[in-house]
Amino acid sequence: MAEESRNFIHAIIDDDLATGKNGDKVITRFPPEPNGYLHIGHAKSICLNFSTAQKYHGKCNLRYDDTNPVKEDMEYINSIEEDVRWLGFEWDARLWASDYFDTMYDAAVELIKQGKAYVCELTADEMREYRGTLTEPGKESPYRNRSVEENLRLFEEMKAGKYADGEKTLRAKIDMASPNINMRDPIIYRIAHATHHNTGDKWCIYPMYDFAHPIEDAIEGITHSICTLEFEDHRPLYDWVVNNVGWWPNPPQQIEFARLNLTHTVMSKRYLKALVDDGVVDGWDDPRMPTIAGIRRRGYTPEAIRNFCEEIGVAKANSTVDIGMLEHFVRDDLKDKVCNKNVVIDPIKVIIDNYPEGKVEMLPIENNGNVPELGQREIPFSREIWVDGADFMEEPVKKYFRLFPGNEVRLKAAYFVKCNEVVKNEDGSIKELHCTYDPETKSGSGFTGRKVKGTIHFVEATTAVPIKIRELDYLMDFGEDGRAVTNPESMKVITAYAEPSIKETKPGDRYQFFRHGYYCADTKLCTEDELVFNQIVPLKSSWKPE
Ligand code: ATP
Ligand code: MG
Repeated sequence: MAEESRNFIHAIIDDDLATGKNGDKVITRFPPEPNGYLHIGHAKSICLNFSTAQKYHGKCNLRYDDTNPVKEDMEYINSIEEDVRWLGFEWDARLWASDYFDTMYDAAVELIKQGKAYVCELTADEMREYRGTLTEPGKESPYRNRSVEENLRLFEEMKAGKYADGEKTLRAKIDMASPNINMRDPIIYRIAHATHHNTGDKWCIYPMYDFAHPIEDAIEGITHSICTLEFEDHRPLYDWVVNNVGWWPNPPQQIEFARLNLTHTVMSKRYLKALVDDGVVDGWDDPRMPTIAGIRRRGYTPEAIRNFCEEIGVAKANSTVDIGMLEHFVRDDLKDKVCNKNVVIDPIKVIIDNYPEGKVEMLPIENNGNVPELGQREIPFSREIWVDGADFMEEPVKKYFRLFPGNEVRLKAAYFVKCNEVVKNEDGSIKELHCTYDPETKSGSGFTGRKVKGTIHFVEATTAVPIKIRELDYLMDFGEDGRAVTNPESMKVITAYAEPSIKETKPGDRYQFFRHGYYCADTKLCTEDELVFNQIVPLKSSWKPE
C-alpha cells in the first residue's frame, strides 16, 4: 500500500504538528450511528480515520453516535465491530456519545448563563417561517430576549418533563441574519419523551447533532474530526459550539472530504434497510449488498478494499467512482492469492472415442499459472468429460478457435482433442460430441509437432461434482430521474460441474473457476451435500486503470 501518500488532510495535520497546535497528538474517530449495517462508504471513512491515526502514531476511537433515543440493536453494534476489525483496524477506545449527556446538558446551561441560548416556543412551522431563505434574512423569535433566569428555569423544566414533545426547544442565540442558515439560532436541544437504550428514562430532552457532535469530539480530545462534505456549512456552528462553551483550550477541528459514491450503488442505511425489510434481498449480508457484511460474504478481501480506498484518495469535491474500479482492486488482490479449480458451466458431454474405456489417469495441473509457489494438484481424465457450453460452436463465428466440428484444441493439462461428430437429442439439442485424442500431445511431454489455437478446460465425467453457483449482477441502479431502482435479475442460480478436489472446500474459500471468474464458497449455504458459491468478480473488467 502507498504508505507515503499524503492527502490534503495529512497536509493539514503536518501543519498542525509543525506549529504544535495539538502538541504531538493526532486523535481521530469513526462515529457511526448504530442504526444499520456499515456500507462501503463507511469503509472509506474507517480507512481514512484509522490509517491517518496509524500514519501519525496517534489514536482512533470507535464512537457510537447514539444521541437519538432509538432502540439499541445489538445486531448493529456487533456488526459494526466485526466490520471494522475485518477491515484490519482496532480502535483505541470504544465510546458512546450518550455517556456525555450530562456534560452536554451542562454545556447548554453554560450557554444560557452566557446569554447565548434561549428557550423558544415557536412551533416547527413557525420556526420554518421565521428562518428566512437563502436570499432573505430570518426574523428573531419573540422568545429570544428572555432573561437568563427565565431560560434556566424553563430549560430545567424541559429536563424535568414538564412539557410535551415539540412544545419548547433550546436554541443557540447566534444571528438570524446570517447568510449561513445553520447559524440562524439553530435548535440545540429538543424534547423527546422516549426511552434511550443507555440512559433509559433519565432524559426527555436530547441534544441535536450539530450541538452534540463537537462536544463529543472535544471531550475525547479529537484533534481532527473528519466528516463528509455535507457538513461544510455546519462547520461555523461546530466552531461556535466549542468556542462558546469555552471549556476546551484546544478545540477539535472539523475537516470535510467528499463522500464515496459508487455507480450502481445506493449508500444509505435507510435504503439498504428497506431492501432487507421488504425481502428484496436475503438479509444485510446478502452478497449483492454494498454492506461490508455483504461484500465479505461475497468474497471481497479487506486488502482489496483498503487498496481501493487508498487509491481513490481524499477529494474535496463530490464525484462518483466507477464500481468497476472497486472490482478491479478485488481481482487484482485475488489473482495471485487463490488457486484455480476446473468448473464447467452449461456442460456438454464429450466422448473421446479412441481413449481406453474404464481408464482414468491423474494429470498434474498448476494451481495458479502466475504463482508457482501455489503448487500443483491432480485432476482426473478419462474417456468421458464435460466441457463448457461456450467452448463449442457447431457453426463457428470468425476467430472462434475453440471446439467445432473438424477443429482440434488443447485440453488444458491433458491432450489435443479433435471434434469429429455432433450427436443430437430428438429436440435438436446437443447430446454429446465425439472426439479423438492424440496421445503424443500429452501436456508436459514436450510435444512440438503442431500447434492449436484454442485451449479449453474440462471436468472428468464420472468424478464431476455438481455445485451451485450464484452468478451476481448489480442489484441496484439509478433510474433516469435519479431515483433508485432494483434489478430483479441480480442473482442467477445455476448448477455446474466441478473437478473432484472441490470437495475439500470450506465455507469462505475462494477460487478462480478457471476461465470463468472468482468465486467464494458461501458461509451460510454450504452443506455436507452441496457446495454453494457466490461470484466475487468476473475475470474481465470493463474498467481500465489509467
Ligand atoms: P447513512 O446515510 O448511510 O446512514 P450516515 O453518514 O448517516 O450514512 P453514520 O453512521 O452517521 O452514517 O456515518 C458514520 C461515518 O461514516 C460518518 O463520519 C460519515 O461521514 C461516514 N460516511 C457515511 N457514508 C459515507 C460515504 N459514502 N463516504 C464516506 N464516508 C461516509
Ligand atoms: Mg446518519
